Amino acid sequence: MSSNFHPDGTLFIVSGPSGAGKTTLINTVRRQLEPIGITLYFSVSHTTRKPRTGEVGGRSYHFVPTEQFEAMVARGEFIEWAFVHEQRYGTSKSEVLARLDRGEDVILDIDYQGARQIAEDADLEPRSLNIFIFPPSFDHLEQRLRDRGLNSEDEIQTRLQKAVDEIDAGKEFYDYVIINDELNVAAECLKAAIIAKKLQTKTALEAITTMAERLKEERDGRFARGH
Ligand code: ADP
Ligand code: 5GP
Repeated sequence: MSSNFHPDGTLFIVSGPSGAGKTTLINTVRRQLEPIGITLYFSVSHTTRKPRTGEVGGRSYHFVPTEQFEAMVARGEFIEWAFVHEQRYGTSKSEVLARLDRGEDVILDIDYQGARQIAEDADLEPRSLNIFIFPPSFDHLEQRLRDRGLNSEDEIQTRLQKAVDEIDAGKEFYDYVIINDELNVAAECLKAAIIAKKLQTKTALEAITTMAERLKEERDGRFARGH
């Protein structure tokens, strides 16, 4: 980690309508931030939906039966969970909390209901940043869902229907909204938001105090040596 960035683990939450470009943007910025010393761990959610062609359990999602998901809910193993497109999706504590406590940064791709639950969590909210990804227009959203070729016509219609509600429901509590028109520009904006959060001092007073002490000692040592 570059000494520019505070050492406290931060939770980056990316939400937005299906097809807006969250996965593409998250993959792009993870790749581009690594060389400057920000490593974002992608939290793998649990879901009751079936894997799509090419999806590997444990990588895209942990695919679990409904009974197993419900048992995890009952044991309080999720930091958030919600029904999305009639299936259950959740972020498990084991994907996130220990990593944050170790000072690692974690990024989530979750829907607005999950983002709201985290925004209302007194422990997690101060350590998190909410970013909402907008498509440039409804037509673009529809086109991207079709071009992606992952969803049936019915699924595309459900996703388009939900997109408008999501934008409406989410608008009050997002820290940043990014319009994913040009991919490169949107990726720059997302990186800027993440970098700015990693430079914020209020969550890292201890580290900054230590650094200030060290600089003072170095200065005093230099004067003591007479130059
Ligand atoms: P989400 O994760 O939000 O559901 P994806 O990242 O899967 O969305 O993107 C949906 C489709 O749109 C993909 O085929 C992706 O390649 C494409 N896409 C993403 N961002 C852009 C963009 N800025 N311009 C054009 N196509 C894009
Ligand atoms: P998909 O099934 O297309 O991969 O994802 C559908 C939606 O579920 C996306 O909007 C995605 O952000 C959301 N989602 C994925 N994982 C989680 C999760 O752990 N919690 C919540 N609340 N939503 C999730």
